[in-house]
Amino acid sequence: MRKVKNLPAIDGELGWYETSPLKQRTPGVRVKGKHEFDVLIVGAGFTGLAVAGRLAELSPDCKIAIVDALRVGQGTSGRNAGFIIDLPHNLDANEPDSIFDRQIYTFNRFAIERLNGIRQQHQVSCAWQDAGKYMAARESKHAKELAGFVKTLDGLNAPYEVLEGAQLEQRLGTSYYRKAVYTPGNILMNPAALAQGVALALPANVTLFEESPTTAISYGAPHRAKFLGGEITAKTAVICTNSFGEEFGLVQQRLAPVFTYASLTRPLSEEQARTYFNGIASWGLTSAHPAGTTVRYTPDRRIFIRNSFSFETSLRTDQKKLAKAWAQHRASFEARFPQLVELDFEYTWGGMLCMTMNHQSLFERFDNDVYSACGMNGVGVAKGTYLGYYLAEWIAGRSSPELDFIRQHNQPSWVPPEPLRSVGARIRLGFEVIRASGEV
Ligand SMILES: Cc1cc2nc3c(=O)[nH]c(=O)nc-3n(C[C@H](O)[C@H](O)[C@H](O)COP(=O)(O)OP(=O)(O)OC[C@H]3O[C@@H](n4cnc5c(N)ncnc54)[C@H](O)[C@@H]3O)c2cc1C
Repeated sequence: MRKVKNLPAIDGELGWYETSPLKQRTPGVRVKGKHEFDVLIVGAGFTGLAVAGRLAELSPDCKIAIVDALRVGQGTSGRNAGFIIDLPHNLDANEPDSIFDRQIYTFNRFAIERLNGIRQQHQVSCAWQDAGKYMAARESKHAKELAGFVKTLDGLNAPYEVLEGAQLEQRLGTSYYRKAVYTPGNILMNPAALAQGVALALPANVTLFEESPTTAISYGAPHRAKFLGGEITAKTAVICTNSFGEEFGLVQQRLAPVFTYASLTRPLSEEQARTYFNGIASWGLTSAHPAGTTVRYTPDRRIFIRNSFSFETSLRTDQKKLAKAWAQHRASFEARFPQLVELDFEYTWGGMLCMTMNHQSLFERFDNDVYSACGMNGVGVAKGTYLGYYLAEWIAGRSSPELDFIRQHNQPSWVPPEPLRSVGARIRLGFEVIRASGEV
């Protein structure tokens, strides 16, 4: 039996979870005693939930268990910035590959439609907005780099707007940025609320277990997963634990989990909103530099800030790192909104981006009916949703050109072993933050 050493933890004050309308729902039971299922899915983030939902549709007689160490919405799926990004997220596309980009765009649109369908059918209250997205730069060198993104958009024939100066300030309520490219297809939402809503919408042949970390697993016929006071056996095992993927022993040296941090202010008063954001709709902005700051003005009149990175081999962060991120968030917030310096952050938290060297995810079938989809490279709301959907199709024995494409393009390359991985990651992260300069 393989022990799962590093388990997920709460990592700060989870702003989206705390403000989710579904926070008070009764969570799924813990795994206690012995249970038998046809399929066991470990990880109830967007990827695991998508596997469960699609597999339950395809095989209504299949008994499916989905387990999570935390409550749904407390994992990374509920800690992110809440963008469901429709466009390929590549900025370094000097020579964009429009056939590949178009396929990614099609998958992302498919994921958005899938999540939107669940949201509408089950009336999930998650502040869903067809808000689009700004990709913005403050410094002229980074404003120039937006040209690469525009090239990708032109290759896709995708609509966009280039905004500068006063026109941009009128849309955002801050004069911080020099230039931005606005694209209309991105969705903004409260990710913890959406994940909870998707979990509640799962069909009756799926049993959701929460607050149940898998502490050990053995692969065989059947697979056997251990919990505190409980055990699940199943013919098929599916590992969708993203940054915790390598803990399950299926692959080694493919995933590089990197902590990033977020803060959410208290809501602006009505007067502050009237004075500083009069006529401004809520919006979301990502940086022209990958190490720059993500910012949102939410429908409940809060400002969201995401930046800062740390590399933790324990897969947990601590109060010192949270305090350091908080200080950087304050600096970034006050530089953009000097008129709001008295507005506190109500929540500050950390979560892991699960990066791979070549930006491809792990999407694999192993011996004895074991499957895994991990390594979502910071775009897992859409990517996890479509990879999870097609992983379920694979498990159910279906084939399609989409599944072939996904298998061909999701083979993560090798990451050096420790301590090289940590040293390399810290140097690279430090270097990128310096390069991002004013975008942080
Ligand atoms: C601050 C931040 C901002 C981000 N912004 C965005 C964004 O705007 N848009 C976007 O698309 N992506 C964003 N991301 C990335 C996105 O959150 C991830 O790509 C996404 O969560 C991946 O989904 P997943 O289901 O594959 O993995 P996860 O969401 O990590 O889910 C895996 C689940 O496995 C569970 N698990 C792990 N180990 C065990 C165990 N031993 N036993 C039981 N359960 C276990 C975890 O608790 C977790 O819930 C952001 C990430 C962060 C940290």
